[in-house]
This record gives sequence, C-alpha cells and structure tokens, in this order.
Amino acid sequence: MKNTRPLTFGLRWRLPATTAVIAGLLAWSETTTTAAPQGGPVDITAYDLTIDYQPGESLLRGSAMITATAGTALDEITLRLRGPEASAVTVNGMAARSFVQNGDENLAISPAKRIAGGTAFRIRVDYEGKPGDGWLPTESGGASAFEGDASAWFPVGDDQDKAEFRLTATAPAGWSVVAVGREERSTEPNTFQWHETEVAPAHLAVSIDRFTVERTTLADGTPVVHAYAPGLRDKAKPLADRTPQILDFLTGRYGPYPFSSAGNVFVHVNEDGPGTSPQTRPVYLGAGSKYMDLLQVVHEQAHQWYGVSAAHRSPEDACLSECFASHSTWMWEESIDGVDLDARFRDIVNARKTDAAFWQNALYKPGERPGFAAYDRGPLALHALHKQIGDEAFGSLLRQWAQQNHQQFVSWPQFEQLAEQISGRDLDGFFQAWFRGTTVPADAYLWPGGSKP
Ligand SMILES: [Zn+2]
Repeated sequence: MKNTRPLTFGLRWRLPATTAVIAGLLAWSETTTTAAPQGGPVDITAYDLTIDYQPGESLLRGSAMITATAGTALDEITLRLRGPEASAVTVNGMAARSFVQNGDENLAISPAKRIAGGTAFRIRVDYEGKPGDGWLPTESGGASAFEGDASAWFPVGDDQDKAEFRLTATAPAGWSVVAVGREERSTEPNTFQWHETEVAPAHLAVSIDRFTVERTTLADGTPVVHAYAPGLRDKAKPLADRTPQILDFLTGRYGPYPFSSAGNVFVHVNEDGPGTSPQTRPVYLGAGSKYMDLLQVVHEQAHQWYGVSAAHRSPEDACLSECFASHSTWMWEESIDGVDLDARFRDIVNARKTDAAFWQNALYKPGERPGFAAYDRGPLALHALHKQIGDEAFGSLLRQWAQQNHQQFVSWPQFEQLAEQISGRDLDGFFQAWFRGTTVPADAYLWPGGSKP
C-alpha cells in the first residue's frame, strides 16, 4: 500500500499494489536435508478456517484446522500469525505441549508427541483479537485483508505452498463476507462459505462489508460473484458487467481461464487504494475513486493468468506479473478501441529516449524488484519483444507461458528461455537491452522489426 502511487503516462493507470513479499517466508523451525514433499519439511495440504468478525470492534475470532504432511520427524512446528492471539492449540486432537507466539509473527508449536516423518497430521489453532497489518478498514466500516497478508487473519505456513482452502465466516446481520473460490450456500443465518481446491496463501483475500452481492455465470457455467460495498454499485457495476467480455478477450490471448470461479470485489479503503488480484476475484481497494476505470479491471483480471496461476517466485521476477498485466491493457485497447500500438510505442520511445531516469531500473535484476518500471516500461518492452519475434511467435509465447505454468511459481529466466525456444532465435542481446539493461537500448533493439519512425 505504501508503495503505490497513481502513474500518469499518456493514460492514467491505477498502480496495483506491489505483490506481496514472498521470498524466504518458510518459517518451519526444523531444517533437514531429507527429501521432503513439496521441497520442505512440512507440506500443508488444507486450511479449513472458521471465523467470526465483529466490524464495530474490529474483533476477529477464529479457529483454523490445518492438515499437513511431515517430511521429517517434527518436535516443533512454526506457523505465522500477526495480530490475533492463539488461545488453544491441538495437534492430532491432543493439546500441544506448548505454543509460543513471539513479538513478530511466529507461532511456535510443540506437539505433545513427536510427529513421525512421512505422516499426515492436523493442527487446530483457536485465536482471537484485532487482525494485524494488512487488514484494511474500509470507509463503510468493513475490512479487506490485503492479498499476501494472510498471517494478519489466520495462522499460515509457507505463502507459496498451495493448499485446499475452505472458509466459513459469520458476521452481524446486514454484513457479508466474500473470499476467493466458489461460494457454497450455508443454511445458517449470516454465514458465508467459500471453497477453493488449490490456492497459495499469497493469493488469498477476504473482505467484509455491507455488500450488495450479485451472482451470474460465464457462458461455460463458471460462477461469477460481484460484491459492491455501499455507494459503489452505480460506478462499479458497468465495469463488472464487462467481465465476460474481458475474460473472453484474455482467454483468446492466454488460453483457458485458469480457475473455476470468477468475479470482482469493490471496496473503498481510500481514494488511492490500488487494485489487487487475489485468486479468482480481484479486489479494488479504491473502487469508486476517480482513478478506477475499465483498464484497471482488465489489468487485474489479466493477473489471473499472469501473476496468480503462473505466479512470480521472488520479488525480482515481478515483471512476470506486472509487465504482462500492464501489457494486457495495451492489447485490449488495440483490440477494443483501435489504438495503434506501434504509434504509441514510437511516441513513448521518442519522448523518453534521452530521459535517463526512465530507463534506470532494470525490469529484471537478481536481488532487486523492478518497481514502477514494470508498469510503465514493461508494456513497452513487451511490445518491442512482439516486434522482435513477430505475431505468430509472440502470440504462441503468451499462451504457452500461461498454460505450461498453470498453478506454478516461476522465474524470469524461464521466460527468456521459452521465448528463445518458441521463436527459434538467440534473444540474449534483446533481453539484455530491454529487460536487464539500465540505459536506453541501442538502436538495433530500440526499433525492432522495422518499427523505427
Ligand atoms: Zn498488477
């Protein structure tokens, strides 16, 4: 949130929030050289959460049932929980020998009995309190959990360890809870159930507000849920109603929609609130603001392919999400509004050619985030790649990347490799010039494919 600002660049784009910091969050205290499932000593396979939220007091009460497999014998398990305090912990139904929640975010649990390697086990954590940072109050008195900040509202393991997710949430009369995945109807009053078969905690979110909830389906039957916080429906509904068209367009470029539910959640945290893209259902934190527009919806929906399904592994790989989501709006404008992208490319390059600051941050540099360059120079660089390898290879590359990496965490060098493989060309010089370099590309790369004016 702190890292966002509106960006004016010919068009005004809403800058989506920086994707959550993902690197190095594996918090399991026991390290081992033993081969373990999913690359770690503990593989969480399911989160089954029951929460109650009282908006007036910002009070969250929860119970998390976590199912996991031990890759090696475990005497201690560490989860992350910031804000609410754990009040009771059981492992395989037995009260834990001890559990310690330290000042930052770790919840260290010692089971009563050592957990044997290779076995499945269940942890139940009951907890209560004010949610931690990332739990954002909305202007209408509700709250929205920022994607990637799962530990603000439930005890969580590795942010990139995909698991089944089930949420049963209650709130006072008049309030609704909207999360990710498919909605399951509850017979209990003011109880909301959401289920997603496989999701990384990094891509979870939940929002609670006095929502107006509208349900439709895509042509293939995929359920769609749109939720509007008070006062936002008039402005946001015309955007939400374009969702089938947007998803059709993106499917045409990237291949089948990656998930089995869709929709949009509109809340107002503040006027500069960014769009975010949890799995299946983007959340607009500044919905109704003067910045909110259709291109923001296109950008966030594009993240379902580029950013959520094929997700960047480390902050340094963020171009894989933001360059492509930003470039998606270019393709949309070309297709829907007839924008001449070659002319736009020429105008921007000519305007920025001698502007050293514009080129100074690499789109890919090990150990560094691309930052705002991904939003402004990202689409430019992808348009240059399009000109460099031609329509057929570029189209095939966009689609194959999204489809081959369905539900995977991936890194930038893998993309360069696929681009070379599909185009059959050595692109080292091109990628160095446009993605790894920090100065304006040499003319041979700056005007690829005869795009020079
Ligand atoms: Zn984005």
